Amino acid sequence: MKFETLAVHSGPGPDPATGALAPPIHLATTFARDASGTPLGGHTYIRESNPNQSALESALAPLEGGEAALVFASGMAAGVSLLQTLPPGSHVILPHDAYYGFAIAGREFLPRWGLAADFVDMTDVRNLERAMRPETKLVMLETPSNPLMCVVDLAGAIAVARAAGALALVDNTFATPALQRPIALGADVVLHSTTKYFGGHSDVQGGALVFARRSAAYEAAGHVRHILGAVSSPFNSWLVLRGLRTLAVRVAAQAATAMAVARALAEHPGASAVHYPGLPADPGHEVARRQMTAFGAMLSFRARGGREAALRAVGRVRLFSRATSLGGVESLIEHRASSEGPTSTTPQDLVRLSIGLEHADDLVADLRQALDG
Ligand SMILES: *Cc1c(COP(=O)(O)O)cnc(C)c1O
Repeated sequence: MKFETLAVHSGPGPDPATGALAPPIHLATTFARDASGTPLGGHTYIRESNPNQSALESALAPLEGGEAALVFASGMAAGVSLLQTLPPGSHVILPHDAYYGFAIAGREFLPRWGLAADFVDMTDVRNLERAMRPETKLVMLETPSNPLMCVVDLAGAIAVARAAGALALVDNTFATPALQRPIALGADVVLHSTTKYFGGHSDVQGGALVFARRSAAYEAAGHVRHILGAVSSPFNSWLVLRGLRTLAVRVAAQAATAMAVARALAEHPGASAVHYPGLPADPGHEVARRQMTAFGAMLSFRARGGREAALRAVGRVRLFSRATSLGGVESLIEHRASSEGPTSTTPQDLVRLSIGLEHADDLVADLRQALDG
């Protein structure tokens, strides 16, 4: 079945109790058992599993081509729950430009759990080969990356991780399975912040791990969630499931608009560089063309004139909203270094854009007037 069809139909069908096409929200925290003690509907207690969380998992796993999924309270909770399954003494490799939450988790928390983390620029897969150690248990990949939109050769990097017996984890938040399928390229686990494109409307937080196989790692991460408690609430699970039904059309439209915005910025004298793998001149273009069906709806540009010019452009937009995050229907703009705070290594002249569902002409006009002023 094609992705667009799967997005609409994956997971449970109409509610068997009522025939309702839209799934009910089950707020119950505890579930009845029969006289022999067997749970009537397969659930016992909300933290262990619950109907809305399970419905979302069964809908989400096939979209990434995985056998099973676990959903969490946030994208960070999803990633950290997988890291918490690793035995003390394990070494993990994270991208040098990892999402800032994972960069902080790697520096601050992993050592407390007896885990060693190295940050590696994997745009050259040889750097990953050199960084692997006998005790490397997990390699995390992120492409396109945040906020410089660096592209990593997924098949190549995954092969290096797996040859060494390490789990290959891909943060697919930016691309979404509408555009990129890491499991088809050999990944063991795919991570999502469903807060972004899956939810799609800037109104729900969630995270997901999709497992290629119903593996020991799946069981272990499920145990971490059950005991440590980073579950997805019934309402949040329901909202993310509602969002994923329209993922395919939203992302296709957003990616097409992002391409138009990137082309317009590339021609504008106020932008000294544009980071978007869809542009033929982008260093990641060839690899992105091989592993993505379109180039996503995130891009960044460098303001000619440095930090002050970047802040001025961000201050002058009228249609873009000045806000962090991404993946919603409304386009967002941010001075990323300010959002990341004092530990940020993001260039001060960088402006990050999340392209929404407005018309490209209106977005381009807004950026032009902001840069021209
Ligand atoms: C937002 C984001 C996360 C973290 O997700 P939360 O839902 O905010 O915890 C992880 N990775 C990427 C690429 C993200 O954009």
